[in-house]
Amino acid sequence: MKKEKPILFTGIRPTGEVHIANLLAAIYPAVKAQDDYEEYLCIVDLHAITTPYNPEDMSQAIKEVAVDYLAAGINPDKVVLFVQSHIPYHTELMWLLNTITSVGELQRMTQYKEFKSRYKDAKAGILNYPVLMAADILLYKAKYVPVGEDQMQHLELARDIAKRFNQTFKKEVFPIPELAKLTEKPLRIKALNNPKNKMSKSLGPKSYIAIADDPDTIRRKISSAVTDTGPSQDTEKMSAGVANLFLLLRLTADEKTYNHMEEHYKNKTLKYVELKAVLAESIIDFLKPIQEKREELLDNIDYVAKVLSEGREKAYHKAGQVIKEVKEVMGLL
Ligand code: ATP
Ligand code: MG
Repeated sequence: MKKEKPILFTGIRPTGEVHIANLLAAIYPAVKAQDDYEEYLCIVDLHAITTPYNPEDMSQAIKEVAVDYLAAGINPDKVVLFVQSHIPYHTELMWLLNTITSVGELQRMTQYKEFKSRYKDAKAGILNYPVLMAADILLYKAKYVPVGEDQMQHLELARDIAKRFNQTFKKEVFPIPELAKLTEKPLRIKALNNPKNKMSKSLGPKSYIAIADDPDTIRRKISSAVTDTGPSQDTEKMSAGVANLFLLLRLTADEKTYNHMEEHYKNKTLKYVELKAVLAESIIDFLKPIQEKREELLDNIDYVAKVLSEGREKAYHKAGQVIKEVKEVMGLL
């Protein structure tokens, strides 16, 4: 008998260029796990429209996220790669889950508070974002969710909503989702130009290294990354900016290079220009194969559209079964 695979869900907002933190926190874990998990990888356009955007750019942004997933090594024969708004059940389940979610718990979310202060007149979509995210995950009965540290609070809420649903309607409809144990701990890569914030598409290109950045752009961005005045004489503790560069080095370079730089730092002989030069080359090498594949896919965009259309069929089928079960236990069928 065929053994059932554990189910994994993850999403990326088509809000601009996909960057190295998206790659390391969400895309790579899915690539590594694609043989062993049943995967639903979603381009979450309904989340993207909760912050200001240009409708004319959306269709291209969606295709580019698909290109990035594929270029990073996702095999569309093994996973379901699809666009959130193609499956109307996401918003339907969101409404149903809204009825068991309290306004207070949504108002306590850090991302809501951040977006509210960044975009002033914040819309209800931002408040309800985590309910849609819970719906995204639960609609496929996903148990494992690779996300960055910034989404852990939302994942925690999705767990609460799943438990509450099962209790309220007295049936174990949803598994309780958790962080996919594919990274050692939730990743938080900081913005290069301001390490107080996380690297983000919405903070602009200076905050991130895009998957598509050419070598000179990468060198320039890394060389202007915020550090400090030099390894301190009286403390071992790295400043946030330097720790962030070391984190990127650990994730992209070989162990020997990393250890060498760390040794240097400990001996207080490291010059940050040197660290930055080594890091820039390591990121360039790390991204090179993905960039080559990216170019091929961009020249073959009809293939990418076909992948998304096939993904839509498969996602629709699975989500349709789950929404039916949900409506049954809620007395709606
Ligand atoms: P935006 O600013 O538009 O929200 P973003 O850079 O935050 O874009 P998302 O599409 O919202 O990217 O997130 C996609 C995935 O990447 C999520 O799993 C998120 O947790 C992860 N992620 C985003 N930024 C970081 C980061 N700086 N470090 C680690 N993971 C991150
Ligand atoms: Mg985000």
